Amino acid sequence: MVLATNLGFPRIGAQRELKKAVESFWAGKSSEKDLLAAGKELRARHWKLQKDAGLDHIPSNDFSFYDQMLDMTALLGAVPKRYNWTSDKVDLNTYFAMARGRQQDGVDVTAMTMTKWLDTNYHYLVPELTPGMNFKISSSKIFDEYSEAKALGIQTRPVLIGPITYLLSGSKPENFTECRCTLVPGIVKAYIHILRNLQNLGAEWVQIDEPALALDIEDRYKEAYKSAYKTIADAVPGIKIMLATYFESLRDNTDTAFALPVAGIHVDLVRGADQLDKVIAKAGDKVLSLGVVDGRNIWKNDLSASIQKIEKAVQKLGTDKVFVAPSCSLLHSPVDLDNEKTLDPQIKNWMAFATQKVAEIVAVAKAVNNGRESVSLALQVSDGIVQERKTSPRIHDKQVQERMKAITPDMMKRKSSFKDRQKIQHAALNLPLFPTTSIGSFPQTENIRKARAEFKAGKINDAAYKKAMQDEIKSAVDFQHGIGIDVLVHGEPERNDMVEYFGEQLAGFVFSSNGWVQSYGSRCVKPPIIFGDVSRPKPMTVEWSKYAQSLTDKVMKGMLTGPITILQWSFVRDDQPRYITARQIALAIRDEVTDLERAGIRMIQIDEAAIREGLPLRQADYKDYLDKAVENFRISASGVEDKTQIHTHMCYSDFNTIIESVAAMDADVISIETSRSQMRLLDAFAEFKYPNEIGPGVYDIHSPRVPDVKEMTDLLEKAAKVIAPRQLWVNPDCGLKTRGWKEVKPALENMVAAAKEMRAKTKSSAAA
Ligand code: GLN
Ligand code: ZN
Repeated sequence: MVLATNLGFPRIGAQRELKKAVESFWAGKSSEKDLLAAGKELRARHWKLQKDAGLDHIPSNDFSFYDQMLDMTALLGAVPKRYNWTSDKVDLNTYFAMARGRQQDGVDVTAMTMTKWLDTNYHYLVPELTPGMNFKISSSKIFDEYSEAKALGIQTRPVLIGPITYLLSGSKPENFTECRCTLVPGIVKAYIHILRNLQNLGAEWVQIDEPALALDIEDRYKEAYKSAYKTIADAVPGIKIMLATYFESLRDNTDTAFALPVAGIHVDLVRGADQLDKVIAKAGDKVLSLGVVDGRNIWKNDLSASIQKIEKAVQKLGTDKVFVAPSCSLLHSPVDLDNEKTLDPQIKNWMAFATQKVAEIVAVAKAVNNGRESVSLALQVSDGIVQERKTSPRIHDKQVQERMKAITPDMMKRKSSFKDRQKIQHAALNLPLFPTTSIGSFPQTENIRKARAEFKAGKINDAAYKKAMQDEIKSAVDFQHGIGIDVLVHGEPERNDMVEYFGEQLAGFVFSSNGWVQSYGSRCVKPPIIFGDVSRPKPMTVEWSKYAQSLTDKVMKGMLTGPITILQWSFVRDDQPRYITARQIALAIRDEVTDLERAGIRMIQIDEAAIREGLPLRQADYKDYLDKAVENFRISASGVEDKTQIHTHMCYSDFNTIIESVAAMDADVISIETSRSQMRLLDAFAEFKYPNEIGPGVYDIHSPRVPDVKEMTDLLEKAAKVIAPRQLWVNPDCGLKTRGWKEVKPALENMVAAAKEMRAKTKSSAAA
């Protein structure tokens, strides 16, 4: 029998119950007991759903109150010193302090760093590795959840992040000079304990996620894989390990993976479609788990194609050695398409969310086990949709295709070089040294949310909504005047989300009403769905920006989202190359940029928060991706006159690998996130001698902490050591929409004060 299996189910809940439960706990509105109960309820619901659907392997420990990497850190007792954790079990307080920092009762600790999980938009908390660190089981979560499911009559396959991926995902401080593989023996001991415990509780299979095997890894880590898994297999012989790889094919790591003494290997056949023959040939007596259902997109599976792949493997390996699976954990898909009541029915019919994907996995397995007739209806629907999407005029727009053909190289460059533009812009804008600005959004207050909700529900009309937003803009402008910020923003009250806002106004997009996916902690995003050719029927931001500019003589920065970020944070059609879809978006943004300029906006920021995270996982693929991303950004930004200053903004970026491309984007000013890294991220710009202007973030907006003036001047001084002061801007790390005014006001006041101090210092040192 071919088994139907899953690698992970979204934990957030179809109605984002988990978000609500943790946020209410953080706000002190509910107790720890309430929170634990909410978690338990969700787990039971999701296990039952998967069981009822007919899955043979159901994951456990895929649940988390914040992040599965943080859970792993807790499980391994790898709590950084600054949390003063002394007990032998990581309590919820320590757990959330690691996740979010804590500023309370005289304690002031920063959160652990967050970074994107490989090339997804999911953020994990980066393990902090120290030389010779100890690992010791310090959480019972994985065991408790296994037993909890078992008590419900559900045998599960516990999931954990593998030791090598854990170590490779961690950060190494400067004093840690030796290889992180020195930590392998220690960490492996802890894994052995974990696996033994699971085995004692009755677990037959355990899923160990090692997506690092889909990356470029050094030989010493290939060796680390061998020694780690050999030690584990020798110490816990009975347990069956499903080693899960995903997001790319194994390529040069295929031999390493298949030489490991594990019972099964999971491969991603969506992102790594090329590797099927190779892994079949290498499988030997291992079980192959074939990820045929896309865990990261929302399109219905081509069941016939999936069945063929599974059958191909079965022919060679036999039915007992093949599992049907999603390409990766379904954490990255929304929960349930059935909750969508407003989606266009035709387009909805092309989609599947996590719940439907589980059914697809079951259907594929069933077809292979019992013949295609056993799923004939599902197959018929699937085949029909494949045909329909090829020809539907909803998808294919002649005009867009004509415009794409008419793109010329001239459309990809500004009229003059940066040096010339800079002179013109400095004269036109007349800003001080260390100009202060913010990244765009201000806190999304209860008022804003209420107005938006009422507008969407038809309770208030256009005019009332517009008035409410204008009032917000006005108060944001007044506030910025009051604290003396140099370049103003309108605050983005009208945007629920920086991508959704644009998607809603572009042709080729649709929106779910409940298609939430976890981004970090309790934060979820509802990615727009790009189903067809993209175009811009009319201006999207001009009215708001014009209004905001009318309230001030200072510069009001226009605010747009760039083509790569829109692409990256959407569910993208899978019937044409991604860069083609991005190019269609770039043309639409270009139109918006020139319309803003025409409306009197002198500075326009095109956020490309997601360029870095869109990088392919393998270096061999970087250049092609980056070249196309740069071209697409330049198409969007190059329609303006020299005096119009183009900004871009990027977050969570380690720029070393992409600095050349960032420079090639040729934005006049870039703002980046640097405060948590203590300006270390700036090194890449300094080394490269980045020619354009830069605003390194001085205020970590991911935590409610309010940095004081000194903290920010310290950061600015660090920055001024490596970047010439006349190139420097002063701004927070990112937009402020997730924060409250209570913190934002003092923080921005401090930021302006810090810039003033820097100006004074620079003047006096210039005078000396
Ligand atoms: N302009 C956006 C904002 O301020 C940028 C957010 C981001 O880069 N993630 O919210
Ligand atoms: Zn940002």
